Amino acid sequence: MQKKKQLKAELAHLRGRLQALFEHSPDLNYFIDPTGRVFEISSAGGPILRYTTEQLRHMTYLDLVFQEDRELVEQRFAQVLSGQVERFEVRLIDIEDVPIEFEILAIPVKEDTEIVGAFGVARDISRRKEVERQLLASEQRYRALFDDNVDAVLTYDVEGRFVAMNHATEVMMGYVADELIGQPFLPFIVPEMREYTIEQFMRVKQGGPVQYETAMFHRSGNVVDLHITVIPIMVDGELQGIHCIGKDITQRKKLESALNEMAYHDYLTGLPNQRSMHRQLEELMAAKRPFALMVVDLDRFKSVNDSWGHETGDLLLKSVTKRLAAHLPPGATLFRYGGDELVAVLQSPDEAEVLRFAEQLQELFEESFVIKDHEVVMSASIGIATSPEDGDVIDTIFRKADNAMYFAKQHGRNTFALHRTIAREGEDQLLQLEIELRGALRGGEVSVMYQPQVNLESGALHGVEALLRWDNPRLGSITPEDFIPIAEESGLIVELGTWVLDAACAQLADWRARGLGRLRVSVNISIHQFYHDGFLEMLQRTLAKYEVDPAQLVLEITESIASNADLVVAQLHELKKLGVKVALDDFGTGYSSLQYLKTYPIDYLKIDRSFLEDMETNQADRDLVATIITLAHNLGLETVAEGAETEAHIEFLRAHRADYAQGFYFSGPLTAAEFETWIAAR
Ligand code: C2E
Ligand code: CA
Ligand code: CA
Repeated sequence: MQKKKQLKAELAHLRGRLQALFEHSPDLNYFIDPTGRVFEISSAGGPILRYTTEQLRHMTYLDLVFQEDRELVEQRFAQVLSGQVERFEVRLIDIEDVPIEFEILAIPVKEDTEIVGAFGVARDISRRKEVERQLLASEQRYRALFDDNVDAVLTYDVEGRFVAMNHATEVMMGYVADELIGQPFLPFIVPEMREYTIEQFMRVKQGGPVQYETAMFHRSGNVVDLHITVIPIMVDGELQGIHCIGKDITQRKKLESALNEMAYHDYLTGLPNQRSMHRQLEELMAAKRPFALMVVDLDRFKSVNDSWGHETGDLLLKSVTKRLAAHLPPGATLFRYGGDELVAVLQSPDEAEVLRFAEQLQELFEESFVIKDHEVVMSASIGIATSPEDGDVIDTIFRKADNAMYFAKQHGRNTFALHRTIAREGEDQLLQLEIELRGALRGGEVSVMYQPQVNLESGALHGVEALLRWDNPRLGSITPEDFIPIAEESGLIVELGTWVLDAACAQLADWRARGLGRLRVSVNISIHQFYHDGFLEMLQRTLAKYEVDPAQLVLEITESIASNADLVVAQLHELKKLGVKVALDDFGTGYSSLQYLKTYPIDYLKIDRSFLEDMETNQADRDLVATIITLAHNLGLETVAEGAETEAHIEFLRAHRADYAQGFYFSGPLTAAEFETWIAAR
């Protein structure tokens, strides 16, 4: 009895505790009878589903279940009534039919062996569900970042073995994931990048993300350039693995190297360029290796360009450089320095070898170049400086080689000069010459001389050729053969030529005023002047200024001018319109063919003095002179023979009916005053 009483008390106590639990649990606790009626329900969280407890007592549990979930819940309820414990998720609806997610634990309530209902705990899991949904969404977002990334995204373990990878990785490497997982990645990296890659990998183990560039092999053996970002996976301060993002930069690298290639190569000739030359010279200097630097300048290339057009000039440059490049000895590199200037660098300490190479280069010009069916004879002037003998600064060596080249040009072109040799003859002489020439006009150092031209038939004076003279107080008198090329290359010729024309016309006006009669004056026109923009205007202005009859003026142009067919014909017709005469100078030495003579409106042909020079010894030259005269006559041109020095020359010219002659036989070039005396003496 005592015992029973005690038991009862304990039960009451337990019941109270259960009741408290039942009432104060944050979850929803309920009893449902076998018919489904809710007969006891509680929640510490205030109203349940916004119903009052009173309202709930008159409802069945199904009234609280979301329409779509009812069938499921009925099944579960049946299970519980058959004695099973059920746990499931379900959507209940509140008083306004808003579904809320709950997790249900339903336990059968037995009295003796009979099941008298279900005890349930319903927990609002809508918040948890929301979090889960968000997690899933972010997981999906992450997966998209991983799976669908165009870059390779992969994970390594701490030993550098593949753990996971996306599809892009498989494509980039040419393997499927199964073939790679568990393998170390290092063997896929190109050998020369392995050490560097390991270094980067070690850096990432220190903590932060690291970016670098490397390259790996594709299964095919092709190299794939990569930009890599590696991110350590740290868990509680410990490295668990490494994430890696690999971007394929093969295309970018290709572009980069193409740009690099362009930066160091000349577009036209494909030769390495000036920048490339500097790079090589710097390397050679740093390594203290001896070398020779040769500046190779094409002779008269400018006139080819001016008269045949740039396109032809370009083609010529291409074929010249192609020929040279094909014959380079080992240890030699050819660069295009700019324009028609090439540089050959020969790595050799041996002067004999250097000179042999220069000779060899020059021999390569012996055969003519064929450009668009034209044969072009080219030569080159070469200047050579060597290191270390001529200095250990690139600019110095280059300048010395350039000066030597200049020297070679002034000494007949088609030759080469060692800086060391010319240095003995006075360093920078040529540079000095150009500087002096610039001041010559202003300094009144230039003058014009006049050389008579005589009519061979009548013996009468035909006219005079104006010839430029330069007397420099420091350098003495310099022949036009030496300074005209400098004036041409430096552009000074335009100014000088204008001055000569002005002086010659002024002289004509003076002679006219002093009653010396109607003289003809020939003025040499350099190719640069001829194609210079303001040339025609300048000509007209000068003629007008001195009231000179245009027919008294003869412009002597050389054959090289005449080779740019279209341009020259147009320009010559302009001159014809002005009424001035034109003579083709130095005929027989240049590029043009006899063919041009037919189409060009010219008046005189000047037979180069080299024909008369060789005439006595050379039958072929004699025949040639005879032929030229006949041909000129057939084309309606008059001939002026240059360099008539002897009685024999005059006889020969008369026999072949040359029209006029100019030369020492009659007179050399004279000052205006000397010329006046010369006339008076006749
Ligand atoms: P060029 O037009 O052929 O002029 C004729 C040259 O032959 C002149 O040389 C003259 O002195 C020289 N000479 C004349 N008769 C004889 C002779 O019987 N025998 C020999 N061996 N030579 C003779 P120069 O005055 O030294 O002129 C050389 C070249 O300089 C000229 O050749 C011409 O191309 C150029 N030049 C002269 N003055 C001017 C000028 O004002 N403008 C331009 N653009 N060039 C000029
Ligand atoms: Ca001349
Ligand atoms: Ca001449």
